[in-house]
Amino acid sequence: MEEWIKGILDKARGPAERGLCDRCLGRMFGKLGTGMTNDVRGKKIREALSEAGKTAPASETCSLCENVFDMMNRFAASAAEKIRCVESDDFLVGSRVEPEISDREKSLWEEYGLDNAEAIKTELNREIGKLVLPLVNRRVEFKNPQIVACIDTRFADVVLDIAPIFISGRYTKNSREIPQTIWPCRSCKGRGCERCGGTGKMYRTSVQEIIGDIALEMSGGEEHFFHGMGREDIDARMLGDGRPFVLEISRPKIRNIDLEELGRRANISDLAGYARLQPAARETVQRYKCADPDKTYKARVRVDGKVNKARLNEVALSFKNVCIDQRTPHRVEHRRADLVRKREIRWVEAEIIGDDVFDLTLNAESGTYIKEFVSGDGGRTNPSFSGVLGAQCAVETLDVTAINYQEPMRD
Ligand SMILES: [Zn+2]
Ligand SMILES: [Zn+2]
Repeated sequence: MEEWIKGILDKARGPAERGLCDRCLGRMFGKLGTGMTNDVRGKKIREALSEAGKTAPASETCSLCENVFDMMNRFAASAAEKIRCVESDDFLVGSRVEPEISDREKSLWEEYGLDNAEAIKTELNREIGKLVLPLVNRRVEFKNPQIVACIDTRFADVVLDIAPIFISGRYTKNSREIPQTIWPCRSCKGRGCERCGGTGKMYRTSVQEIIGDIALEMSGGEEHFFHGMGREDIDARMLGDGRPFVLEISRPKIRNIDLEELGRRANISDLAGYARLQPAARETVQRYKCADPDKTYKARVRVDGKVNKARLNEVALSFKNVCIDQRTPHRVEHRRADLVRKREIRWVEAEIIGDDVFDLTLNAESGTYIKEFVSGDGGRTNPSFSGVLGAQCAVETLDVTAINYQEPMRD
């Protein structure tokens, strides 16, 4: 008799009499004795018991699992069929077991003090996984599987849980008429109404949709989500090297889409541009959301009255690492908490364009409201460019020209 059996022989008497199949009996001691299935483990325990004068044959219909293991080939075939419809490098099998079975199993553990038992779910996942493996020719991945085939053992249903794909890049926005992300219609909240002409949207397209719709088509995914490193106002362009973003595609059928082709097709639009597309990890979304890079802006400013070049330059240069207090701007008051934030203007350069028009190029800390820094927002931003110049200024157009952020070479 094997050593491990000797130790548990007394403990095994009780469960062996409870009408279990060999598998379920073996699983009660599943963490003991290596290199065998629970089926074999159970048989060995019964043999040992019978040698010791205790005969407890396996039952036809198991009182614990109700012979669910007889269905494993069917489960595996359905799982493989679903998995084959989707491209992936790896997979994992998961299962749902009838709650009554799990409850019965737990009460057996407690009743007989079985602390080396394995859960039925663990055995099902492993054994079905072994059967699926040769059918799909993909590796099993436990930590970060691209797809999980969830088998509901009650109905032999398989639902695929498909991990999204993430694509990072930088975008430029050349239009002052499109937003960064899909903007649902305010009246109908996306259902479609007269106001939005049935589109459900406030704007015909967005930086998100131009690339997202193509990526969706190429990947056979379900939905796209856009995670930008901040966003500019709709009427501001995003120029220069662009703004970092991550595009997320849910439930893709094809994971390895040709990013060069995606870029080529997305860049046909003259409203937005896309560059540096590369596969990204899920963590990139969080990293981009938490980043707060300085930004450089270019503003076309109109001033009330005439400006003098020397004075203008003097005021611009005076904003060298100057901390300003910004109370939540009047224009966003309704959707943001009313607070005073401290922001630093790193530097400002001015260039006269006409008698009452000039351009400002400025670099500021993340979160600075530029239009309000220029206008003073009725005293809510202090100091402001208008305040120091001593003349009321207003931003006519605003562009973001640089986001000071260095992406890692590759996720
Ligand atoms: Zn059983
Ligand atoms: Zn609408």
